[in-house]
Amino acid sequence: MRKLFCLVFLFISGLAQAQQPEKLNSSEIYSEIEKLNFLGSVLYVAAHPDDENTRLISYFSNELNARTAYLSLTRGDGGQNLIGPQLRELLGVIRTQELLAARKIDGGEQFFSRANDFGYSKTPEETLNIWNEEEVLKDVVRTIRLFKPDVIINRFDANSAGETHGHHTSSAILSSRAFDLAGKPSAYPQLADELGTWQPKKLFFNTSPWFYESQEAFDAADKSRFISFDTGVYFPLKGLSNTEIASLSRSQHQSQGFGSTGTRGTASEYIELLKGKHPENNPDIFHGINTSWSRVKGGKEIGKILNLVQENFDFKDPAASVPQLVKAYQLIQNLEDPHWKELKSEQIKDVIAAAMGLYLEAVAGSPLATPGEKVNLELEAINRSDINTELLSVKLFPEEKTIPVNLSLANNRASVQEIDFVIPENINFTSPYWLNEEGSLGMYRVTQNELIGLPETPRELKVQFTVDVAGVKIPFERNITYKFNDPVTGESYRPFEVVPKVSVTTGTNVMVFANGVPGSITVTVKAMANGISGELNPEEMPGWKISPEKHIFDTLQKGEEITFSFEVQPPSVQDKVVFKPVATVNGNTYSRSVVQLDYPHIPLQTLVLPNKTSLVKLDIQKRGNLVGYIQGAGDVVPQALEQMGYKVELIDPKYISENNLTKFDAVVVGIRAYNTIDELRYRQQALFEYVKQGGNLILQYNTSRGLVTETLAPYKLELSRDRVTNEAAEVTFLAPNHPVLNFPNKITSKDFEGWVQERGLYFPDKWGKEFTPILAMNDKDEAPTKGSLLVAPYGKGNFIYTGLSFFREFPAGVPGAFRLFANMLSLPQHEPSVSGLQQDNQK
Ligand SMILES: [Zn+2]
Repeated sequence: MRKLFCLVFLFISGLAQAQQPEKLNSSEIYSEIEKLNFLGSVLYVAAHPDDENTRLISYFSNELNARTAYLSLTRGDGGQNLIGPQLRELLGVIRTQELLAARKIDGGEQFFSRANDFGYSKTPEETLNIWNEEEVLKDVVRTIRLFKPDVIINRFDANSAGETHGHHTSSAILSSRAFDLAGKPSAYPQLADELGTWQPKKLFFNTSPWFYESQEAFDAADKSRFISFDTGVYFPLKGLSNTEIASLSRSQHQSQGFGSTGTRGTASEYIELLKGKHPENNPDIFHGINTSWSRVKGGKEIGKILNLVQENFDFKDPAASVPQLVKAYQLIQNLEDPHWKELKSEQIKDVIAAAMGLYLEAVAGSPLATPGEKVNLELEAINRSDINTELLSVKLFPEEKTIPVNLSLANNRASVQEIDFVIPENINFTSPYWLNEEGSLGMYRVTQNELIGLPETPRELKVQFTVDVAGVKIPFERNITYKFNDPVTGESYRPFEVVPKVSVTTGTNVMVFANGVPGSITVTVKAMANGISGELNPEEMPGWKISPEKHIFDTLQKGEEITFSFEVQPPSVQDKVVFKPVATVNGNTYSRSVVQLDYPHIPLQTLVLPNKTSLVKLDIQKRGNLVGYIQGAGDVVPQALEQMGYKVELIDPKYISENNLTKFDAVVVGIRAYNTIDELRYRQQALFEYVKQGGNLILQYNTSRGLVTETLAPYKLELSRDRVTNEAAEVTFLAPNHPVLNFPNKITSKDFEGWVQERGLYFPDKWGKEFTPILAMNDKDEAPTKGSLLVAPYGKGNFIYTGLSFFREFPAGVPGAFRLFANMLSLPQHEPSVSGLQQDNQK
């Protein structure tokens, strides 16, 4: 049990080490003392990074001084990314860090469950079916038993099935059930042995007019179980209103485009009591809960000292509080309750160090190292107060090797020591723990139980400085970090990472062979240590020929990389295989890729990920050669078309004109182009004219709100919010004889196998009689949607609208998606007088 607590708290105190170390000024130290002297806690629960109400989190943390955490059941892998190309698990890593950046600003802490954000879900039934319901519930119970909140607040309403994302409703359902279970020893008994049980006192729902039909309906609602408070309070110590802090925090969700401008002035928030007792109209959420030190056995005396420290705090000389703080630290060491002892020890140590200007740092000589490598470490220790201080020893983790120092730290006398140490051979990589093993669609797989729920992988490499402060021995732990001077931005920090000796990275995630022609695939071997020699072999793939059998690399130095090329001859039949190159060095094999994510608002992320490429041999025919592509919100469809053998030219919307389009065999409009490209409102007539003259124009999905034009098509066409989220939903052919299902590729139900994430979204639900609906599909218990693929002749050409998610299927190498898209591009021209084609085909 104690070991687990260590892990958790070290991690939390180590957060600031990820970028710049935290250096508190007087008013921040004072705020930390207030928090040290408050023993209430709140857990806020929702489903995604960005669901959380930062006004409330900041209010509880900064106005009430409560220990406040946000439990986001998922890491947001299924979202969109407005700042870069990363999707799925890489996006989840970015959004995890955005939450941590947000919490650094609003003062909260962060937890997760193992649930994976698999994409949009219409109902909680579907969500809880794809997640492992029991395991996610267990993770919520785990967080409650670990964090021990007095109060839990749900972001969402458990009774809103169908009105919002299924993940949202599920978060409220699971939170409510976990509230009932966490205090019972019979619920998850092993977990109870490990962490103890914990019964929170109250459960609330963070309601708002949003959850009602209208503001009027909300105003009229029975509010006898509501509590409201003003989250617009002003903090003179910070020079900021709570609402301004909330906006700064919210603006960390950059990948979601959630930049938010601060407001000032009164701002009411409402919470509704669901479980537990709370008096009507009492705005104190901790009413009836002892939040002073007297709630802890042996805590009264500590409370008395800290009250005095608060009363007598000298903003010009915070070090004057240190003798009293050290006395409180000693009393905390005598507490029997391990929860409060661990928690408050870490808090008070941070306050003591900040108050006396005690700066301790362990910096490695390089940002990356591998197991077995010798690393130089620079240890800095300085005390900037008149407090009697001595650095007694330093201890290196995980090996727990103690080096005696016995150095008196006189006021403002710098001390830097250098030591060498060897990274243990059996150490874990520092990569995000939840990506170490392959999970399922709905769940991450985590084999080390004690890591479940933590936002990041706790660092095993750290240094403990044991310092004598005014006669009391206090151990301070610091993660090993890396820093350098950037000529432009100055002092820069990075996490210190442990990675494998060799990184193997294939040039692409999917490679499509549209005909029998061989192709070449590149693999980059990068040395992460010095003197790396060995060979690179592709694993065998039955039916596929690959040459050469191996490539040799010789004495690569740390950071050096070399790119090899393999010739791939696909089989004659349609097939999909995994290409996995393996590097062998000194009898050890390496097949993982070291990937870095570098964004200015989060610490540099270094991941060790499986390196796999899908090779797809398509049985595919096509007509036409030159395709024009108008980029919308950004997708990889142009690259996919090139892999199918088309020549693709990107079209600048400014230059769309009848004359400029005539050379194209087909023109394709990228996803959400009519939501993001204002220019398109003036270009529709030119696009329609292109179709009239014989071109094929394909529009991919747009959202129904915020369209730049009402004239998407030459005929009536209205988008709806219809979507089919089940990627395996059965597909019915409404127009089986239509050329788009027959020419040049015969489309069958097999072409709808192996799709990923969803079938499609924002299907039209109203269209002119000129359109032929081609496919019908639906999610469970819903009426069939018929607007996923609509084709209409216009003049000599064809106008096609499709909400099918080709932009997701192409990167996953789904053969049927390629074949259907080829047919859309290859639709034959019409003689304008013959208008009965679609009717004939509908028989
Ligand atoms: Zn959400």
